[in-house]
Amino acid sequence: MPEKLNETQLLTKNWQQQLAESFNNIEDLLHYLHLSYHDLPVSVAATKDFPLRVPLSFANSMKKGDPNDPLLRQVLPIKDELFAYPGYSDDPVGDLPSSTQPGVLHKYHGRALFINTGSCAINCRYCFRRNFPYPDLQLGKKNESAGISYIQENPGIAEVILSGGDPLLLSDARLAKLFKQLSTIKHLKRIRIHSRLPIVLPARITDDLINALTRSSKQIVIVVHCNHANEINPRVIAACQLLKNNGITLFNQSVLLKGVNDNPATLCNLSEQLFSNGIIPYYLHLMDKATGTGHFEVSEIEAINLIKQVQATLPGYLVPKLVKELPGALSKQFI
Ligand SMILES: *Cc1c(COP(=O)(O)O)cnc(C)c1O
Ligand code: SF4
Repeated sequence: MPEKLNETQLLTKNWQQQLAESFNNIEDLLHYLHLSYHDLPVSVAATKDFPLRVPLSFANSMKKGDPNDPLLRQVLPIKDELFAYPGYSDDPVGDLPSSTQPGVLHKYHGRALFINTGSCAINCRYCFRRNFPYPDLQLGKKNESAGISYIQENPGIAEVILSGGDPLLLSDARLAKLFKQLSTIKHLKRIRIHSRLPIVLPARITDDLINALTRSSKQIVIVVHCNHANEINPRVIAACQLLKNNGITLFNQSVLLKGVNDNPATLCNLSEQLFSNGIIPYYLHLMDKATGTGHFEVSEIEAINLIKQVQATLPGYLVPKLVKELPGALSKQFI
């Protein structure tokens, strides 16, 4: 029998192992947190189409024994997900009509977005793409060269955004190849990555990954996704430091979520902690109305009120832009 590893040892395993050993059922996660089914309105039925998935590195930052932990709330399937809230749908941001070809979304001027993979290291219950038909629309290996040709043929595109799912779940080899190919496109200025991995699975940020990304001649931007200061732990700080030290610009986007970060002190603390670690607050999104997420809704009026209080407290550069997505609009809408 191999010796049982303690938590610290588990967190030093490589990212693939940590990913494979993520929590994938409600019972194990509750047990780890010293909670029981009686503490929370959990729902196994809600996991049928969108399973529970949480890396230990993220769960490790939750407070044991606290059913209201803001990190737990983001990932725990509860009965509210099964209620039908009016105005909620499967494609709330109108991604499907703007899909130019499988895996490519070209909605905004100068920017094209690749849906590189449908997988994520964590399943966020509020995700706007939780009902997205990924098998049809992701830029699998098969469609990748068609996606690159699309950028080549459109000189107006200055920036490619790798998104998903989580593009940093692709192997180093695939990312290296993709970056190499994108680098040959003269009119392209920047490659941007939208990823939650530096926050939820920071072991993903390895020297080999940095090599794959920085071989490109383009400017590189990574937009991470962090909703609460408790998500920032020493492993996250080290990963972001490594990215920064290699000339990668870091921004953060958050989603405004009821019971997670819908108060001014939490939002201010998040901005402070991000900036202390080299990450600039970029967007605070009003949640998109995807089926199953209604219990996270913060109204637009409340959101405006919250951001005003943040503005009254922090320097302007620490106030994220409050935005919402309107299907068919030319950009995200500033509120
Ligand atoms: C959000 C988004 C972008 C990026 O928008 P920015 O305002 O530049 O951050 C680009 N394409 C699509 C389809 C998007 O949803
Ligand atoms: S990491 Fe992003 S895309 Fe993945 S489940 Fe969470 S919100 Fe959705």
